[in-house]
Amino acid sequence: MKVASVKESQKMIYNILKQAKQNNRLSHAYLFYGDKGTGKKEMAIALACMHYCPNGGCLECEVCQNIIDGNHMNVDYIGMQEDKTKISKEQIMDLQEEFSKTSLVEGTRIYIVDGIDTASSQAQNSLLKFIEDPTNLTPTVGIFIATELSNVVSTIQSRCVLEHFEAIPKDKMIELLEEDSIQSLDARLVSCLTNDVDEAKEIINEDNFEYNKNLFLKLIDIRTKKHLALFYLDNQRYYSDPKNLLILLSWMLRFLEDANVAKSGRDGLILSPLYDKIISYSNSSKASMKDQLELILNLFKELNANVSAKNVFFELTEKFI
Ligand SMILES: [Zn+2]
Repeated sequence: MKVASVKESQKMIYNILKQAKQNNRLSHAYLFYGDKGTGKKEMAIALACMHYCPNGGCLECEVCQNIIDGNHMNVDYIGMQEDKTKISKEQIMDLQEEFSKTSLVEGTRIYIVDGIDTASSQAQNSLLKFIEDPTNLTPTVGIFIATELSNVVSTIQSRCVLEHFEAIPKDKMIELLEEDSIQSLDARLVSCLTNDVDEAKEIINEDNFEYNKNLFLKLIDIRTKKHLALFYLDNQRYYSDPKNLLILLSWMLRFLEDANVAKSGRDGLILSPLYDKIISYSNSSKASMKDQLELILNLFKELNANVSAKNVFFELTEKFI
C-alpha cells in the first residue's frame, strides 16, 4: 500500500484529523467517501500513521514508513485484488480471522477496508463486529473507503465519522496538466477518465492512449451508417476489451455534452481543441442530442451490468447515427 503523502487538495481533512489526534478525540471508525482518485487511501494511511508515529503522523519517520510500505504488524489493509471489481467475502473472513488472533505488538489495531461499498451487505455488517464488539480488549480502529456512499450499509454509515473527499475541479486539473507541458487535447481527454492528476499522467503514458484517441477522433468524423458499420468491423476486437470501450464511451459522452453546450451558445467546452468537429457534428446530426446522450448513458449501464463489451460496442455503432 504505497502512498507518497496526503494530496494537497485534501489538506483540510488532514488538519481536522490531526486536530482530533492532538485533542485525543480520534474516532474508532471512519468512512472516507468520494470519487476515485480523490486521495481517500492516502488519507487512511496518514490516519493510521497518526496513531503510531512518535511525531503525530509525520509520514517520514521509520514508523510511518513501515505503515506506508504495508509492513506494520498492527495495520491491515484490504483492497480490491487485481482484476476484481469487488471485495470478496474471503478477504473479509481472512481479516476477521487475523483480528481474532492476539496481536503481537501492543497498541491499537487498525484495519483499512478500501472499497467497502463493493462488499455485500452481509459482509459489510460482519465487519461491524469490530466496531461494536472487539473480541479482545485491544482497541480497534476501522477506516472504510467508498466511492458510492449509497452502497454502504446504513449501520456502518451511522457508526462512522464521515468525511467527503471532493474531486479537484476539471478545469483545475486540466490547468495543472497543461502546465506540465501535456498537450491541451490530451489533458482534456484524460480529465474525462480520472480526477487524479498523477493517474492522469500515467494514463497518458500508457501505450493505448494514443491509439484510443485516434479511434475516437475517427469515430466522431463518421457521418454515414455504412462507415459506422466498417468502423465496427475494423475495431470490434479492440473494443471487446471493456477497458478500451469505457474510454471511448467516456469521450463520446463528453463530446455530446460539449456539442450540447456549443449548440446552446454557452462557453465552457471541455474538448475545446475539437471545436470544429463538435460544431460539424452538431450541425449534421439527425438524431436528437438528447437521444444520443441517453444512448451513451445506457451503454455505460449495460457495460456495468456485465453485458459483453463487444455487444455494447455493436449497439453503439448500430444506433449512433
Ligand atoms: Zn512519523
